[in-house]
Amino acid sequence: MSARLLLATGNKKKLVELQRILDASLGLGGVELVGLGDFPDYPDVPETGLTFGENALIKAREGASRTGLPTVADDSGIAVDALNGMPGVFSARWSGRHGDDNANLDLLLSQISDVPDEHRAGAFVCAAALVLPNGREHLVEGRQPGRILRSRRGTGGFGYDPIFLGDGQDRTNAELSPAEKDAISHRGKAFRELAKVIAKELPR
Ligand code: IMP
Repeated sequence: MSARLLLATGNKKKLVELQRILDASLGLGGVELVGLGDFPDYPDVPETGLTFGENALIKAREGASRTGLPTVADDSGIAVDALNGMPGVFSARWSGRHGDDNANLDLLLSQISDVPDEHRAGAFVCAAALVLPNGREHLVEGRQPGRILRSRRGTGGFGYDPIFLGDGQDRTNAELSPAEKDAISHRGKAFRELAKVIAKELPR
């Protein structure tokens, strides 16, 4: 029998990505992942934390206490050195409107337009939390270091991908295939790390 695990997100792409990583780590059918789409009355949980880890834990605790299921939640964004780590937890709403990828990206580019190439380092960061109904908590973090370009390149991915060149890469994240991005991305790293914890914590 497979264990049920909630991923506290309404984002179907994240569900597919985590299920793929869990299947690879735990064997096919090891864990049945459900999303917030399966809980129609689930409220919008405000992300009030000041770090990715705090936000991931807030969402995972809420999921576990509302549903009684072991719950995974993640929070991610881009941290730019020249902006002292911002947009950080405000990545999705940097331009003021939540989820307006184009406006967020344009604002970031204009803010650092005077920053010379050697100071344009940054990283995608993802914190992923697992909270169990018995109160046990785990938190892991994945990072993809790189630098911020001056204009967009590529049409894949989402968010800040077209202006992010990962260290050791000659293509932006928006020029990588989904599998190539998973292999090196902050979220891929965090989810793979968390899969090891899930394997130990979930009876199957
Ligand atoms: P969330 O963790 O899904 O809420 O993502 C927060 C925001 O961070 C997104 O809206 C994007 O702006 C940015 N972000 C997170 N991960 C990525 C990524 O893999 N590529 C590009 N942007 C990302």
